[in-house]
Amino acid sequence: MLDFPSPPHHEAAERLRDEVRAFLAAEIAGRTPLQRAESWNGFDRAFSRALGARGWLGMTWPKRYGGHERTTFERYVVVEETLAAGAPVSAHWIADRQSGPTLLKFGSEAQKESILPRIAAGDCVFCIGMSEPDSGSDLAAVRTRAEPVPGGWRVTGTKLWTTNAHEADYMILFCRTSGSPADRHKGTSQLLVDMKATEGMTVRPIYDLAGQHHFNEVHFDQAFLPATALIGTEGNGWNQVMSELAFERSGPERFLSSIQLLVELIRALRGSGSDLAQQTIGRLTAHLLTLRRLSRGVATLLEEGRDAAVQAAIVKDLGATFEQELPEIARSLVDAEPDRQSTRDLLAVLAYTMMVAPSFSLRGGTREILRGIIARGLGAR
Ligand SMILES: Cc1cc2nc3c(=O)[nH]c(=O)nc-3n(C[C@H](O)[C@H](O)[C@H](O)COP(=O)(O)OP(=O)(O)OC[C@H]3O[C@@H](n4cnc5c(N)ncnc54)[C@H](O)[C@@H]3O)c2cc1C
Repeated sequence: MLDFPSPPHHEAAERLRDEVRAFLAAEIAGRTPLQRAESWNGFDRAFSRALGARGWLGMTWPKRYGGHERTTFERYVVVEETLAAGAPVSAHWIADRQSGPTLLKFGSEAQKESILPRIAAGDCVFCIGMSEPDSGSDLAAVRTRAEPVPGGWRVTGTKLWTTNAHEADYMILFCRTSGSPADRHKGTSQLLVDMKATEGMTVRPIYDLAGQHHFNEVHFDQAFLPATALIGTEGNGWNQVMSELAFERSGPERFLSSIQLLVELIRALRGSGSDLAQQTIGRLTAHLLTLRRLSRGVATLLEEGRDAAVQAAIVKDLGATFEQELPEIARSLVDAEPDRQSTRDLLAVLAYTMMVAPSFSLRGGTREILRGIIARGLGAR
């Protein structure tokens, strides 16, 4: 039986919620509904620094690394409120969610001391170097190779779909340091790549369906990385990258990336006497609240130091399904209500969300891969 524990009432977290809401109301007052819909794709270093200055990044980390030693629930409140408000979170998102925690868990003292305080200040952008042209779901087939050479490593290979590589200060590169792809999990490692100072590395843009540039291809051609770039233990890359993916899958962004569409839909249908509109909004809201309850259950497990990999996969899969249904439901509902003037904002947010929604069941692990994890977790496989 899978445990989804009830989150306790957390006084400090709820007090923090009011503070975060007041901050966001002032800080992003001018953002249009379309800009708010772009939230997790909105790149704004100034906003990330402002959040860092409030102590709302690296929240659970030790103070000696620039953190604030607060609870998982308090961090959850900040993540949830920034997404619900449609704040531009992309510049700090990856670093705060998974790269920082990975360094905290496996990094050398020097890596922790030099980088974690910068992430906590909102001043350090990370990208994820996992996927490759022939290695997405099957991450163990990774072919990018770091050959040990005097003083460090020479890296050759290509990373694909690398969000924010063109903006990032660092990448955590998952690659092979010994053996061959046939060895699967053995012989892989994680290396820290300085994106501003590594020679032999080229970043090329990939434009997405919405015509925006978030993704990249990153080519390494005999790029030199110093020995100090190794994160954790050579050959332990598979365990480390699985731990990084668990951080990636556990948060409320897995059901809040389409939230602005629901907000605009409710705004457009406000005052409508239609039974269909009321029932649909009621059903969507109930679904959202259920997802939120499950997601807070994952936060509770993490706060208790328990493994939440299967529960996080369930929330991500259910969340992606909800988020992908939302644009279709919104479209049919607006069509079904010809007497209501749907607003320009709703249509702009709908168009944007329709173009990004296909990615929700790919990023961070595809639907089929997550269902495999869930089946194994339930003992059905
Ligand atoms: C918005 C977004 C942001 C991303 N950002 C990053 C990033 O920053 N860094 C990074 O490294 N990657 C990133 N990715 C890449 C993402 O992790 C991969 O797209 C994903 O892991 C799938 O890999 P793939 O695209 O190679 O597809 P494939 O693995 O080729 O899968 C294609 C299809 O086959 C199915 N499939 C594959 N294997 C199996 C199996 N064993 N059983 C059943 N079905 C299977 C998949 O479910 C999928 O439907 C991002 C992707 C998106 C959409």
